[in-house]
Amino acid sequence: MKAITVQPCKANSTRLRDVAKPRLTEIPGGRGVLVRVLCVGLDGTDKEINAGEYGAAPDTDSFLIQGHESFGQVVGVGPRVTEFQPGDYVVSRVRRAGMSLYDQIDAPDMTTDDEYFEHGISRVHGFLAEYYVEEPRYLIGIPASLGHVAVLLEPMSVAEKGIIQAYEVQRRLKVWHPTKAAVLGAGTIGLLATMALRCRGLDVTTFGLDEPPYLNSELVEAIGASYVSTKQASLADTAARSGKCDLVFEATGYSPIIFDAMHELLAKNSVMVLASVTGGDRRVEIPADQINLDFVLGNKALVGTVNANREHFEAGVQDLVRASADWPGWLERLLTHRVEGLRGCPAAFELLGSPGAIKVYVDVASANSTG
Ligand code: BGC
Ligand code: ZN
Repeated sequence: MKAITVQPCKANSTRLRDVAKPRLTEIPGGRGVLVRVLCVGLDGTDKEINAGEYGAAPDTDSFLIQGHESFGQVVGVGPRVTEFQPGDYVVSRVRRAGMSLYDQIDAPDMTTDDEYFEHGISRVHGFLAEYYVEEPRYLIGIPASLGHVAVLLEPMSVAEKGIIQAYEVQRRLKVWHPTKAAVLGAGTIGLLATMALRCRGLDVTTFGLDEPPYLNSELVEAIGASYVSTKQASLADTAARSGKCDLVFEATGYSPIIFDAMHELLAKNSVMVLASVTGGDRRVEIPADQINLDFVLGNKALVGTVNANREHFEAGVQDLVRASADWPGWLERLLTHRVEGLRGCPAAFELLGSPGAIKVYVDVASANSTG
């Protein structure tokens, strides 16, 4: 079968090539599920892997099949699979279990292992291929009505995990009733976090760099949230005008903003979620005593989050279904760039981060896909 592969740590080594089609028997005990890939979303992680800055091949191969944001259809199941049948739509979780205690309780998103297994990223092949095989426990069933917007489920699961973690942390307060939230960043994760917080009834302000109006600011406003460009108003100005927040979700990829937000945006008893994977080595000067004092005297909490587990994917399915009903067409507007088939793929990495791009996705199963 055709697949998009990379030689990890070698810049621009991405290419379309033939690889062996996976077999059901690769999963022991008759528990394999063979999935035909329909769509795969791309993000900054894929771009870094393509640039040779990140990623690792499985022990058995010198290359890595890329892609971690999948949507596919089951085409075959092993004799001991009862959870799925051919025709079902599925999205795969990204992490597979490693060795730590958390991995043993099926929470590989919380692994303490230094080297982890992530489809398309680290030591497990990804989904930019015609087929993949996986165990039922890593697959999430998708209602047919969601169709190809289900390719947004993996980034959605990352947003959901952050928000669910925030609510878990806030159980410490016994009577926490958040009303105001801020999302830092108006990219895919920022927009999906805005949507998930709107689904929970919060008043949300989403901060982006660009001045409105543009597609992302329009999408924020279309679901009843407010958009603020940090070129036009600082976090402090905005808080002075409309009040501090009970929950702040950071997804800009620009780490210095977190100290500003800790200082300017967080109300007493609030929580801030950090979700940006920042590979750089930026340094900044911060008002350390003031930030610390605010945190201590205000009982504030800070929580980092990566990846997602089954419950976060399932919460994501619910919110995607709800968003489709409450704001018809909104999710489709996030899918700004459709790439025709795997052969369009190496070039697709150039679309990432380009003006007007939110979600770039590869329509793997389109008629001329493998060409
Ligand atoms: C993926 C996560 C993954 C993280 C770190 C993100 O792009 O969406 O699933 O855990 O990268 O590799
Ligand atoms: Zn990702």
